[in-house]
Amino acid sequence: MKIGYLIDMDGVIYRENQLIPGAAEFVSALVTTSTPFLFLTNNSAPTGEDLTVRLKHLGVQGLTPRHFYTSAMNTADFLDETHPNCTAFVVGEGGLLAALHERKIANDGIHPNYVVVGEGAATTEKLTKAHELIEKGARLVATNPDNWCPVSSEKTRPGAGSIAAFLEASSGRRAYYLGKPNGYMFHRARQRLGDSALNKIEHVAMIGDTMETDIRGAVEAGLLSYLVLTGSTQLEDVGDYVYQPSRILHSVAELVEEVKTGKPSESADSPFFTHAKNGGHRHGNRHQTDVLALYKPRPRPAMTK
Ligand SMILES: [Mg+2]
Repeated sequence: MKIGYLIDMDGVIYRENQLIPGAAEFVSALVTTSTPFLFLTNNSAPTGEDLTVRLKHLGVQGLTPRHFYTSAMNTADFLDETHPNCTAFVVGEGGLLAALHERKIANDGIHPNYVVVGEGAATTEKLTKAHELIEKGARLVATNPDNWCPVSSEKTRPGAGSIAAFLEASSGRRAYYLGKPNGYMFHRARQRLGDSALNKIEHVAMIGDTMETDIRGAVEAGLLSYLVLTGSTQLEDVGDYVYQPSRILHSVAELVEEVKTGKPSESADSPFFTHAKNGGHRHGNRHQTDVLALYKPRPRPAMTK
């Protein structure tokens, strides 16, 4: 069975600048067997070059910028495909600016077609400007729906979803969210994976640690979905979700033999349902994933509370 992998990074390959045990061996097995793979991240701040260097410092060798597909690249692909020659005002960092530049989408602070929101770089001045441009007719797009992102096991930071939510509240307009779990992210990632493969890929598996983005997106795109327990999801929480992963693995280390031999390992096959437990949850939805809400007409909110 010829299988290609889409691989989330945070919580799958590393956590807090610490490589997850077995991750380097897993990537090395993919490289040496010429197995098609692509890292898929919702973090829109870094470029492919930044991520290559980061992983090299963590001890993962043999990667190039072509091995990474970020939500920033996905946003640039989307705008380029659906609205050629459009312009954008950007609230975001280097990776987003570089991705838009590569697709020849001009920065426009006067009359842009889109306000594009990514991770970081949100200042009061930028948000005020973005708000004014949306009022003048620019459409609001966010690179990904993450309200917050893990920084360490005890610390989080605001994500692009929360910045977009700020502008949604102030302008009364709904944002369109690219990145996982949007099907367009999986569609373009799959295309890239196919383009880079020497032979035809029969199956694509998404490996991730987050149910709302990695697993949901994979299920909806008709891909295999492998949940790893080295990141944001605890085994006892899996049963809370309507959609379920094809497999649950302790970590990517369990896939090393499988990649080397090309035979699925039975010991790692463990799809099951668990009873939901609600203790110890962080409050607040992690993602802006109420997709139906995108189509709801939303009146301008009251000027004051
Ligand atoms: Mg993750």
